[in-house]
Amino acid sequence: MPLVDTHAHLHFPEFAEDLDAVLERARQAGVRTMVTIGTDRETNPAAVALAERTESVYATVGIHPHDAAEATEDDFAALERLARSSAKVVALGEMGLDFFRNLSPHDVQERVFRRQLGFARQIGKPVVVHCRDAYVEVLAILAEERVGEIGGVMHCFSGDVEVAKRCLDLGLYISLAGPVTYKNARALPDVARFVPDDRLVVETDCPFLPPHPHRGKRNEPAYVALTAARVAELRGTEPKGLNDTMSRNAARLFRLPAS
Ligand SMILES: [Zn+2]
Ligand SMILES: [Zn+2]
Repeated sequence: MPLVDTHAHLHFPEFAEDLDAVLERARQAGVRTMVTIGTDRETNPAAVALAERTESVYATVGIHPHDAAEATEDDFAALERLARSSAKVVALGEMGLDFFRNLSPHDVQERVFRRQLGFARQIGKPVVVHCRDAYVEVLAILAEERVGEIGGVMHCFSGDVEVAKRCLDLGLYISLAGPVTYKNARALPDVARFVPDDRLVVETDCPFLPPHPHRGKRNEPAYVALTAARVAELRGTEPKGLNDTMSRNAARLFRLPAS
């Protein structure tokens, strides 16, 4: 039962003490591949360095909307250098808009998002999109910046079926995370049933958002199996077949080498 955790932050300090044990538990849970996601000037080089020394880990580099206001020209230059520095950098991001926590002004978030989309198009890599309370704006920008030409994923999807449909129309994959396992999952069970087989992937977003029954603790890649199992249950299908399908989707999305 191979699984891909399409969105983890394994290079974050939360894993500094016991990363080897975390990776071993992932392996035992069938998680063969993880994508560790950069978010800012400190975490981008750490993500690439971890991917370079760990066979099962790939990396992305990006500027998170929370960090948009801090981003300097030097940061963009470093991001572009890093993105070209290693074959293990498989995508750009995470990038997007977060109007929930609003840690950067909206116009700055939008400018930094568009700039990264332009760069992704330039180097032909897919994008990892973060969106909270900003689907109208994010979808408009993705359409204007022609995301369909490069592909990408709406990570930790939190919208409803209508929003999911618009993401699919743009050619994006939909990634479900721990919240689909929660009692108050709202529209997510419907989304889990709605997304077609060939566009669905799962993630942990660890160390954040652990699936049931680990809420309140640190999340880790092994737990993506719980999210995948819940999604299979919601779709009324066998976990094994769905996991195979979602692994193939992740490989197509990130253009991973055949394993
Ligand atoms: Zn995110
Ligand atoms: Zn994340």
